[in-house]
Amino acid sequence: MTFNELNLSAPVLRAVAQAGYESPSPIQAAAIPPVLAGRDLMGCAQTGTGKTAAFALPMLDRLTASAPRKKGAIRALILTPTRELALQIGESFEAYGKYLTLRSTVIFGGVGQAPQVAALKKGVDILIACPGRLNDLVGQGLLDLSNIEIFVLDEADRMLDMGFVADIKRLLPLLPKSRQTLFFSATMPADIVALSKSMLTDPVRVEVTPVASAVDAIDQRVYFVEKPEKKKLLVSLLREEDKSVLVFSRTKHGADNISRLLSKSGIRSEAIHGNKSQNHRQRVLTDFKSGKIRVMVATDIAARGIDIRELEIVINYDLPDVPETYVHRIGRTGRAGHSGTALTFCTPDERPLMKDIQRLTGKKLNAETYRA
Ligand code: AMP
Repeated sequence: MTFNELNLSAPVLRAVAQAGYESPSPIQAAAIPPVLAGRDLMGCAQTGTGKTAAFALPMLDRLTASAPRKKGAIRALILTPTRELALQIGESFEAYGKYLTLRSTVIFGGVGQAPQVAALKKGVDILIACPGRLNDLVGQGLLDLSNIEIFVLDEADRMLDMGFVADIKRLLPLLPKSRQTLFFSATMPADIVALSKSMLTDPVRVEVTPVASAVDAIDQRVYFVEKPEKKKLLVSLLREEDKSVLVFSRTKHGADNISRLLSKSGIRSEAIHGNKSQNHRQRVLTDFKSGKIRVMVATDIAARGIDIRELEIVINYDLPDVPETYVHRIGRTGRAGHSGTALTFCTPDERPLMKDIQRLTGKKLNAETYRA
């Protein structure tokens, strides 16, 4: 299958070619035709599958093809759980829409609202937003969502995990009933299915990455260690490597500790988590992507949705409490067809968590030995 077979417009195809995409990913091939046809969509897919383009490309064409319901109105809303993800989706709309005249902007909390409000005042067609700030601005009467034609709820499962359900439910009645809705979630537990039912009309279902197969391409290894050995193991693994490594910590405090330990050992690293300012997180991410910082230490929420092309190694310094989070974490590597390595440290008291993960992924991880 080629992009040319998907009935996308010439300006969008040109932008896609410039992005270097040769053929549509499975979710793009499956989702673009129904979205172009105006159908609601229920997409079971995680970040890294090309899901952003799967909704952004047909949305751009649909919005271009029809006139706005009201002049100057916001026509599309994409709701996403984290600032990083919002910024990335914003960049994607800019890139894919570069030969079109639609305007998009991104709003999220943790930074001053004035520049965001100024951007909105200038008029935007496509709004990419995190729920907290969006509700804030709606509450202040600075935003009108009554002319939305297309609504996207991205990473619905993560939204619920992060406690955004009330925000979402508050927003829904503000959207017009007659609209196109696209709903994405990596996992489909019962509460997500219920939420999707309340929002979608006769949706097309697209499921591209059963959790297990998404991680098949990744070389996964586990080190069974005692807790005090973790630090030495991390330092020795990082000393053997010259590739970019993303290290996951379960807690913010832990992330800071790990980063400090690495600095002391002469390994340049930075930590990102919810207590760091938005500017700090952005700078670290840019430096990490450009290779200026080789090791980034992150908590799950801070790393959620971060798109680092060709990240080769992920290290789980701690195991996550929820097995699905393991899949999200290691999904940072091995993206869009690249192979990757995920190394996991497991202490004796983390063994039950390890078992849950192996049950979820249906894969027994290769055990590595470590002797300090
Ligand atoms: P996403 O799942 O939307 O976060 O996309 C994951 C990564 O895949 C991003 O870096 C995209 O730029 C890239 N990507 C999306 N679609 C394609 C494609 N058809 N071919 C190659 N790379 C793609």
